[in-house]
Amino acid sequence: MSRPVVTRFAPSPTGYLHIGGARTALFNWLFAKANGGTFLLRIEDTDRARSTPEATEAIFRGMRWLGLDWDGEAVSQSANAPRHAEVARQMLEAGTAYKCFSTQEEIEAFREQARAEGRSTLFRSPWRDADPATHPDAPYVIRVKAPLDGETVIADRVQGDVRIRNDQLDDMIVLRSDGTPVYMLAVVVDDHDMGVTHVIRGDDHLNNAARQMLVYNAMGWEVPVWAHIPLIHGEDGKKLSKRHGALGVHEYQAMGYPAAAMRNYLARLGWSHGDDEVFTTEQAVEWFTLEGIGKAPARLDAKKLAHLSGQHIAMMEDAALVAEIAAYLDAAQQPPLTDAQAELLQKAMYALKDRAKSFPDLLEKAHFCLTSRPIAPDDKAAKALDDEARARLRELTPHLQTASWDRDNLEVSVASFAEAQGIGLGKLAQPLRAALAGRMATPSVFDMMQVLGRDESLARLADATQ
Ligand code: GLU
Repeated sequence: MSRPVVTRFAPSPTGYLHIGGARTALFNWLFAKANGGTFLLRIEDTDRARSTPEATEAIFRGMRWLGLDWDGEAVSQSANAPRHAEVARQMLEAGTAYKCFSTQEEIEAFREQARAEGRSTLFRSPWRDADPATHPDAPYVIRVKAPLDGETVIADRVQGDVRIRNDQLDDMIVLRSDGTPVYMLAVVVDDHDMGVTHVIRGDDHLNNAARQMLVYNAMGWEVPVWAHIPLIHGEDGKKLSKRHGALGVHEYQAMGYPAAAMRNYLARLGWSHGDDEVFTTEQAVEWFTLEGIGKAPARLDAKKLAHLSGQHIAMMEDAALVAEIAAYLDAAQQPPLTDAQAELLQKAMYALKDRAKSFPDLLEKAHFCLTSRPIAPDDKAAKALDDEARARLRELTPHLQTASWDRDNLEVSVASFAEAQGIGLGKLAQPLRAALAGRMATPSVFDMMQVLGRDESLARLADATQ
């Protein structure tokens, strides 16, 4: 019987959560959810000089924003160092690893000579098969015994079988002379101890897999299923670098994209399900398989993200949108919504969410319900409120005062007034828009009047026509 699925995301806390890491986390999360499995988080903080608590916090924050909840407590790799060292000693006892007393100078000399003789410079330790009775009382490292011939096959679910000749693998050091374990050992021991069944990560780790298999084999542990995902490239098809713009997920949050859209976008960076482009997270969970991961590097596509964002904003529940906008404002270090603003925003949402590509875009259109009297018109709105337009609004006012206040009635009142005056509806709607919102990019005037209600709408109209 196969083991229950356990996946993990194992970031090194040396900076923010970048888009590639977020995608790796998402794939592991989706695969675990799709298989009723467990998704674990391990912070690979063994590089003490480069790891910071701030970076760990940033990773937690990024994952929380994306809704990638992990099971149990996050594991700190450095806390497991004694266990990693213990495994190195177990390998020593089992004879699958050995003490190597070669000094740095001796290793250099070996390489010099190999170069001179045109042989491989991979170090072959003279201590591999030495009789322990000959061991000196000197510092040593522990090396794992790599097979000398044959090949190591990484049966990768994305890349296919990747074959590495064993004569290209050296006897990797697993424990340094100061007794500290190496990273490559730590990963394997942790994955084994955490019960990880599937290792899904960037294909920059493919070479590590061959070396990590040495440790699995030395310990007689079951090798996990490997799935190495091609890295993400920039829009220009080149490897990602700073010049490609936003790379940290926090930057995407601050740009005002909903987390659901970001999950959809990240999922499509390297994974596909037929022709489906816009999907919910529930659908992604239902559909996710390792077979759906492509072999070619995915490309960033800012237009696609904006499109997906618009689609998800339109699909979201009004209350959920307001809650996520509040979180966005916080992330973007903007003033929070007051309760009254949040209430009005939710009331207006039906008229706002269909055409917004991002939260700032939506909030721009929502200006009319976030601002308060007296409304300062921007330049365009001020122009739309010239003397002639204000005179017309003054004439319109009594018709609105007597209209029953619902969207359809208001539309009929304004349209029949326009007709009676022999003017196009636009001639009336534009100044009305300017009076109600102080802006020209808004939902329809009838929606605004509906949301604002009679008293507020008429007061704004009076302010503008005084
Ligand atoms: N800590 C590694 C990284 O951040 C990942 C190691 C792994 O997934 O095995 O790239």
